[in-house]
Amino acid sequence: MSKSSPTFSKGGIHPRESKELTEHLPIEAMPPPEEVDILLLQHFGSPCRVLVDKKATVIEGETIGVVDAGLGASVHSSVSGTVKSIGASPHPVRVEAPSVTIRRDPQAEPKVFTPSEWEHFSPEELLEKIRNAGLVGLGGAGFPTHLKLSPPPGTRLDKLILNAAECEPYLNCDNRTMIEFPHEILTGARIILRILGIKECHIGIENNKQEAIWVLSRAAAESTAPDCKISVNPLMVKYPQGSEKQLIQTITGRRVPYPGLPFDVGVMVINVGTAKTIHDAVVLEKPLYERVVTISGRAIARPANLMVRIGTRLSDIVTFLGGTMDNLARIVVGGPMMGFSIPTTDLPVMKTTSGVLFLSDDEIDSRPHGPCIRCGKCVEVCSMGLSPNEVGIYVEAGRARDTAQFGVFECFECGACAFVCPAKRPLVQFTRLAKAKARK
Ligand code: SF4
Ligand code: SF4
Repeated sequence: MSKSSPTFSKGGIHPRESKELTEHLPIEAMPPPEEVDILLLQHFGSPCRVLVDKKATVIEGETIGVVDAGLGASVHSSVSGTVKSIGASPHPVRVEAPSVTIRRDPQAEPKVFTPSEWEHFSPEELLEKIRNAGLVGLGGAGFPTHLKLSPPPGTRLDKLILNAAECEPYLNCDNRTMIEFPHEILTGARIILRILGIKECHIGIENNKQEAIWVLSRAAAESTAPDCKISVNPLMVKYPQGSEKQLIQTITGRRVPYPGLPFDVGVMVINVGTAKTIHDAVVLEKPLYERVVTISGRAIARPANLMVRIGTRLSDIVTFLGGTMDNLARIVVGGPMMGFSIPTTDLPVMKTTSGVLFLSDDEIDSRPHGPCIRCGKCVEVCSMGLSPNEVGIYVEAGRARDTAQFGVFECFECGACAFVCPAKRPLVQFTRLAKAKARK
């Protein structure tokens, strides 16, 4: 790990990486399960309106739900088969969300996609293909990609950053995608540059992904695209390097003001895995109905990087990987810093499911939390310059509504403060509660 690589200036931590469990494992296609539960809410916004009826026959890639207005992205069937039911399935954040359960037809032929020449399409046509494919950001809350690529009129952009930091411990889905699909990612970047009318792209990757850095650098050097400049930027390994504001500061030196968004400083940030899906949507006209998911932790029999159909139940993945160990203590969807603990493996894979961690009792700290000892460590590591200790004290005193003075809305819930707290105080939960109360 090179210490000379750039990073953001304030705060940050170095949690145990635990990437070694899956970093050298090639992406493996999991056979499609017998049934999938396609959630109709897999994005930032409103649930989709369902387009199919019970007992309808659907084919792989068919649109089965659309959002009529506002924020949203359509959803597609990830298998060919018959609609078994329309009901609800577990959701990692909303507890439950409407869903369509499809029983796969084992005789159905797999779908074949033929590449097309994307250079002939106008920016509007490219955006339309992205919208039709139901793309959402694969690295975060699932903001619809066609909307993200449509900044307000008058916005002046000059740089695209592909977020390849993957700073969350355990996760390797972006890392493996970069190693195995470098040309698709670069094409995705060129499509984004064309839509935005800009020419400069930086791919920001943490230094612990040397193979990905090498593969992408070579692909970028071999690229003959005359219309753009794409560079690979190795970054220091420091959590939360993959947060948009920290990444922009590291690569461009620009600070995104609060309240504000990256485009206020001329930058668009897109997850590197999303760039690959942009390639698929435009060049192959392939909707987003499968994705790479890192399955890791020391309590799963066989950690893996899997290409999984959206809607596959976690229980089917566990069975495919040989089951869980006796010391399983917690299941987390996402990374250990920003992910969510879940109580059931009935949950289906969503477009935003980057990883599922099966953590053993020696990988988690389940001690109860104590009072704040005023050590100041949480303030030291907060890259936004906040005072999570004060927020916690106010929330415990029943004064959550008075926490706006501590900048709670600037907190992006990275979890660095809770990670370093020697009293194990649930500082992120305190902040979430403070935000909810302060909004009322
Ligand atoms: S969770 Fe919020 S308060 Fe805590 S370190 Fe991250 S940004 Fe700062
Ligand atoms: S790290 Fe924990 S104990 Fe230390 S000041 Fe922050 S909240 Fe208090």
